[in-house]
Amino acid sequence: MSGIDLSKLKSSNTADVMGKRVLVRADLNVPVKNGKVTDATRIERFMPTLHNLTHRGARVIVLAHFGRPDGKRVPEMSLRLVADKVRELAGHHPVQFCEDCIGPAAEKAAGALKPGEVLVLENTRFHAGEEENEPGFVAALAKCGDLYVNDAFSCAHRAHASTEGLAHVLPAFAGPQMMAEIGALTAALEKPQRPTVAIVGGAKISTKIPVLTNLVKKVDKLVIGGGMANTFLKAQGVDVGKSLAEADQVAVVRSVMDAAKAAGCEIVLPVDGIVAREFKAGAATETRDNSEIPADGMILDIGPKSVTRLIEVLKTCKTVLWNGPLGAFEIAPFGTGTFAVAGQVARSTKTGAMVSVAGGGDTVAALNAAGVTDDFTYVSTAGGAFLEWLEGRELPGVAALARG
Ligand code: AMP
Repeated sequence: MSGIDLSKLKSSNTADVMGKRVLVRADLNVPVKNGKVTDATRIERFMPTLHNLTHRGARVIVLAHFGRPDGKRVPEMSLRLVADKVRELAGHHPVQFCEDCIGPAAEKAAGALKPGEVLVLENTRFHAGEEENEPGFVAALAKCGDLYVNDAFSCAHRAHASTEGLAHVLPAFAGPQMMAEIGALTAALEKPQRPTVAIVGGAKISTKIPVLTNLVKKVDKLVIGGGMANTFLKAQGVDVGKSLAEADQVAVVRSVMDAAKAAGCEIVLPVDGIVAREFKAGAATETRDNSEIPADGMILDIGPKSVTRLIEVLKTCKTVLWNGPLGAFEIAPFGTGTFAVAGQVARSTKTGAMVSVAGGGDTVAALNAAGVTDDFTYVSTAGGAFLEWLEGRELPGVAALARG
């Protein structure tokens, strides 16, 4: 990531937290339906950090946002039910909840905590000062803590009070999850073992142009798949029929290809596809080379020749960075290509031949569906922050922690 001296990051493991009020920014923005947490992955991922700090005698005060209440108190976006889930998972550590994140009640509850106890404060976004990073609000939050630990990499692309502002007013540290995420991204992108390959897929090319522009300068090979590959094929004169393609992006794609050539990065495109007339489960499919896509057909997955080629490419590389599925994996049978390539990455990672880092919401879902998430070196659940890192942008939440 440009401009930030990551060696200046201080891990919370080096902080003296015994008896201190430690304000920890976590990502607890979990999906909820009918008042119940439907996927507790983010809360579960936070548990090692919570245990680490409580075992070291910290008085842990958790800060988090939940949904988009836009600076107002919205009862359905209260963190209370998330705090209940934290309590359920925290074992013997007492977990309290306070109905505000600033002010006398929050300060009193934080002050009354004993070492090893946990307090979850109400949704920081109930106050407009959070997203505005307003100094008065930052100071009010800081009154509840002696130290600040940011463990929410996924929120680090936002310069909000709890993700950036606090690092300027309290001794600031990166939490274990933040350190792990930055370590994985650095290993894959900044100091990788070469040759490196990036796999970029997904629906729309227009959202991924900044990622591609940065990656061609950094990796040895760039594999393009998914709907966005169609615009690349179109730029090469392939008739992609009714496939998802963005005609207005053809010129941009050509400039990405030129930049790749100049940087010595090989772009690898699909050579065949799984084609259907309908975009639905169980639709009749045909395998077609690029030159034979029917006018009324849609390419919904990469074909078997492309899979074989990608597996060969992967076998020559020591590092892979992956964002975006190679086909419409949610609908059978269009996940076949993604799952086959994911399987190869998993096997190479398990034998130690490859470092594999993947991220982004759909990518995590695709790797989960392939059953290989645990076999990758690191899978990031951060969406926006992961993409901004791939774009080479400075994440304000990380920059504030690394300011020395
Ligand atoms: P993104 O959010 O841009 O990473 O796109 C992810 C979405 O792209 C997933 O929902 C996939 O179903 C979709 N996708 C991938 N390949 C294709 C394709 N060939 N045609 C249509 N949609 C696709």
